[in-house]
Amino acid sequence: MPEALSPAELRSLDRAHVWHPYGPMPGRQEPLVVESASGVRLRLAEPAHGQLELVDGMSSWWSAVHGYNHPVLNEAARGQLGRMSHVMFGGLTHEPAVRLATRLVEITPEPLRHVFLADSGSVSVEVAVKMCLQYWRSAGRPAKQRLLTWRGGYHGDTWQPMSVCDPEGGMHELWSGVLPRQIFADEPPAGFDADPDAAYVRHLRELIAEHADRLAAVIVEPVVQGAGGMRFHSPAYLRVLREACDEHDVLLVFDEIATGFGRTGKLFAAEHSGISPDVMCVGKALTGGYLTMAATLCTSRVAEGISRGEVPVLAHGPTFMGNPLAAAVASASIDLLLGQDWEREVRRIGTGLREGLAPAAELPGVRDVRVLGAIGVVQLDHEVDMAAATRAAVREGVWLRPFRDLVYTMPPYVTGDDDVARICRAVCAAAREG
Ligand SMILES: *Cc1c(COP(=O)(O)O)cnc(C)c1O
Repeated sequence: MPEALSPAELRSLDRAHVWHPYGPMPGRQEPLVVESASGVRLRLAEPAHGQLELVDGMSSWWSAVHGYNHPVLNEAARGQLGRMSHVMFGGLTHEPAVRLATRLVEITPEPLRHVFLADSGSVSVEVAVKMCLQYWRSAGRPAKQRLLTWRGGYHGDTWQPMSVCDPEGGMHELWSGVLPRQIFADEPPAGFDADPDAAYVRHLRELIAEHADRLAAVIVEPVVQGAGGMRFHSPAYLRVLREACDEHDVLLVFDEIATGFGRTGKLFAAEHSGISPDVMCVGKALTGGYLTMAATLCTSRVAEGISRGEVPVLAHGPTFMGNPLAAAVASASIDLLLGQDWEREVRRIGTGLREGLAPAAELPGVRDVRVLGAIGVVQLDHEVDMAAATRAAVREGVWLRPFRDLVYTMPPYVTGDDDVARICRAVCAAAREG
């Protein structure tokens, strides 16, 4: 083993060489050095604002739903490591991938039958888009190559996903004019429980009808728009999309990368609406936050359509497709989730968030407080001062990563009531000081 680097050395080398998400080079904000993580706690290499351990309010961006260093997931990884950590997927197959794909078909909405294992969420969205465009090409309708989405969405950072992220105020503004031009509906009216707005329903239907000849697919995040603004909408709009897509020969894609695996209170957010998409992406919590893996599922109609075409294959095949290590951990994570009363845990956390975040509504500068499933959001009336907000949360012993006008949390499902309360205190402190 090489000699360990001191926290100061790490920070200095990090600053000199290492890009961080959405950051400049060199970085302007000093990252905290994490030494290890266990349960819901991150252990720092040196104290920050008096804290050596932080309760993780972010589940490492929606992924670590079972917390860190989980014995069952560790064992799944260790067991698979002793057999093989990777083998190519072209011409070969293996039990971890087959088991995982079969399991995903079992637990996702009914007509989804076929699984493409991708190596990240963004890639799974690329694959979803490729499937949809190729489906219409194979059907002799190559003009159907555009996508429709609603504003306020986020679908990843590679090219096609960027083209369907919110075009304004989002992270991809810079690329307007370079990205493929897609069709945007207005943001869905806010509120999970709100009655559907008749004018908005008309707007969706009209836009789909108007562009149907050129539309390959509608792609949306069902029920919760995540990184695009942490907004919740009525599942009724998903039923409207399903009807309009069926009526006008357009495919429907649900991006459940953030919402999947119980986060919104249903195993998949599509279940709130009672309808199923033609193509669906999952990722993030798929491996319990252990390794990078995502999946694109599609119906037999889509798969057969592609495979009947002039080019009768889906021309996509990442080097690390079906990675056995990630697949083994993913299956173990799904078993762990479904082997417990996860709905109760998500409800319990939601109740804790509702109680603990209620005081935030009284704070000056707070525009809205909302909770759905195990997601809690405090929206400010101004851009958050990220450094000040982060510092305030760390002082409370909690890790948060606010963005834009949002301080939010989606804790691991194993977070105890006291830690949920602590996260809420930190969100309130961050909202006050940010
Ligand atoms: C995070 C996210 C993605 C991108 O996934 P990566 O693994 O970061 O590439 C896509 N869509 C949604 C809804 C996401 O939340």
